[in-house]
Amino acid sequence: MHHRKHILVVEDEFLVRRMLRQNLEAAGYQVSEAHDRASLMECLHSTNHVDLITLDLSLGKEEGLELASAIRQQTNIPIIMLTARVAPRDRIEGLERGADDYIGKPFLIREVLLRIEAVLRRYTPGVKGQDPPTSLSVYRCGLGTADVGKRQFY
Ligand code: CA
Repeated sequence: MHHRKHILVVEDEFLVRRMLRQNLEAAGYQVSEAHDRASLMECLHSTNHVDLITLDLSLGKEEGLELASAIRQQTNIPIIMLTARVAPRDRIEGLERGADDYIGKPFLIREVLLRIEAVLRRYTPGVKGQDPPTSLSVYRCGLGTADVGKRQFY
């Protein structure tokens, strides 16, 4: 069974959300969408494992920075912030809130894909500079597969 990385896109603007979903799916990712705090928390608390979150900092009435803090209180899932606020002070505050990377809007989808790949690579178990020995840490049992190294069961 092939495990696709699961990206949660948090964005209140439908067109941006759809564009991200289409491009991420085309790149082979499984994609879920959230448009506000409630749908974000619902997705995080579902049983579906999330590998990375892209978080829009301008979420209508929601304050994206506070959402980042709320996510960080619950989980270490990597966060990439996307925002039109590109002042250094805003970038710093985003990183202080626990973001792993930061992309200014408008962005090129190519940059988003490359940064997602880079962040996911950092969170993949393995020795730096070597391919992670996934074949050694993946056990097949019954119909499911357990990846002990990533503590993922699917
Ligand atoms: Ca927005």
